[in-house]
Amino acid sequence: MTSPTRTPKRLRWRSLVILALLLTPLLWPLQQLAQRYYSGVLAEQNRQTLDLYVANLLGTLRRYEILPQILGDLPDLRRVLEAPDDGQALNSANRLLQRIREQTGADVIYLMAPSGNTLATSNWDQEDSFVARNFAFRPYFREAIAGRVGRFFGLGTTSGKRGYYFAAAVRDGERNLGALVVKVDLDHTETLWGNTPEQLLVTDANGVVILTSRSDWRFHASRPLDAAERAAIAANIPYPTQSPPPLRLEESAWIRQDRTLEETGWTVSILAPRALVDRPVRTAVAIGGGALLVLLLLLGLMMMRRRHYLERIALDTRARQELEQRVQARTQDLELLNSRLKQEVLEREHAQQELVRAQDELVQAGKLSALGTMSASISHELNQPLAAIRSYADNAGVLLDHGRTDDARGNLKLISQLTERMASIIAHLRAFARRDRHAPESVALQPAIDDALSLLVKRRRTLDVELIRDLPDANLWVQAGETRLRQVLGNLLANAFDALAERPQPRRIWISTELTADGVDLHLRDNGPGFSQDALMRAREPFFTTKTSAQGLGLGLAICDALMRALGGELLFANHPEGGALLTLRLRAGAPGVNTQPSEDLAQ
Ligand code: ADP
Repeated sequence: MTSPTRTPKRLRWRSLVILALLLTPLLWPLQQLAQRYYSGVLAEQNRQTLDLYVANLLGTLRRYEILPQILGDLPDLRRVLEAPDDGQALNSANRLLQRIREQTGADVIYLMAPSGNTLATSNWDQEDSFVARNFAFRPYFREAIAGRVGRFFGLGTTSGKRGYYFAAAVRDGERNLGALVVKVDLDHTETLWGNTPEQLLVTDANGVVILTSRSDWRFHASRPLDAAERAAIAANIPYPTQSPPPLRLEESAWIRQDRTLEETGWTVSILAPRALVDRPVRTAVAIGGGALLVLLLLLGLMMMRRRHYLERIALDTRARQELEQRVQARTQDLELLNSRLKQEVLEREHAQQELVRAQDELVQAGKLSALGTMSASISHELNQPLAAIRSYADNAGVLLDHGRTDDARGNLKLISQLTERMASIIAHLRAFARRDRHAPESVALQPAIDDALSLLVKRRRTLDVELIRDLPDANLWVQAGETRLRQVLGNLLANAFDALAERPQPRRIWISTELTADGVDLHLRDNGPGFSQDALMRAREPFFTTKTSAQGLGLGLAICDALMRALGGELLFANHPEGGALLTLRLRAGAPGVNTQPSEDLAQ
């Protein structure tokens, strides 16, 4: 039982893991998407910053670009160029330049002779004054003398400060009088940047970093320098070092955006650490992964719940099937048992029928044998009245011959009485010998007693017999035949009246019942003379009677006894201790109910 339930469980978890592996690649596009999005956002930000910075830088430079040409036309300065030894002119030129520098915000403004010597300068009064210094080696001077606007970035040889130099020739027609130079301080352009993770990088035409927010990058070469460039560097001394060390930038760590400034030949770059993108991307991927995990867990939970549900259903189904099988098996057993019982019942019924038949035949055989034994007495009993009839008939003929009609009528009456007696004997014998086709049925006892008494009511009244009934109100049901029971009761009561007729008042009959284990005992007692000793011994015998032939046939008790036995009961007779006869009918109990069977008929 355990292995089939464990296998799908393991399978489910495995499929969940497979599902997770299949779903994990979904994180890759998510990562790409997030990367693209955040890169875009950062690039846009950087582009704006870069634009701002470039505009600022160009603005700073352009502000001073035209200044040397304008200043070159000032007469005070021209005068110095024309008379370099004029101390007063020099002095006023120096002061003029100083004033202009203060007004324009330039770093230094100075005037050079065609030889490259500085004649007048705005920093004339400072320690590192340019006065009398020669800057002919500077490219801007050469450019200016050549008639172009000189531009140059470099460290001040005296100040050591970085600056951008604009130079223009001061001309008088075709003649070069000298040159005017404006040096712009660029140090402050580096401090535009706040404390942001993005870094600024301005490289010149040589690829050397000249302005940067990272001081350790300054004057490093972003690319290898060729010989011409090295020579130019050696000649112009733009940097504090002759050979700038290489700038080692880990390209993958930075997201870079460049802008080239045509007029200076510079490249302005903004470098944003890749971490700025990586961090939100990682967060997005983590959130996505988390969501996926939650989804998977929910899925797993759902699958688990579904599996539990299916398992429960399977378990229920199995239990139901088992129950059904058990019920089926039990039903089969019961059916088998039932059919066996039916068979047994059939066999019993058959056996009972056989028994009843056998009993019937036995009774019949008993009756026949009794009749056999009785036949002598019967023929005697019938012959006697027959002989008497014959003699009365003969006698009647003689009497009629003699005209004694009254006597003859008397004879005929006697004949009639005798035939009546013979008919009575025959009727009793018929009733006795009749094969009773009725099986014992349930009969109410009290109504049967009432019936029997009602037939004898006239006799009872004549004899003035007191009846003492001790019977329960509720009907007592016994196994009997209604007619047969009435016949028995009638016989016994008639015998009691016969016995009571022999004695004086008071005459009493007691009828009482007693419940026994098998049914009911019905006691009939009278206060007559009781059975004689002989009668106690032989009363069951057919034709035994102590009565005169007119009173009794001696068949009553014999027939009653036979009928009671046929009904499964018994007839007992004895004398009561206080005198009189005591007859007991021992009857089997019957099922309570209404007797629906047709009454038996003696004539049948
Ligand atoms: P019968 O009544 O025709 O004589 P029975 O078979 O009914 O035939 O009775 C047999 C005999 O039993 C009677 O003759 C009588 O002597 C005796 N006997 C029957 N019932 C009583 C009774 N209640 N009291 C005294 N003797 C009885």
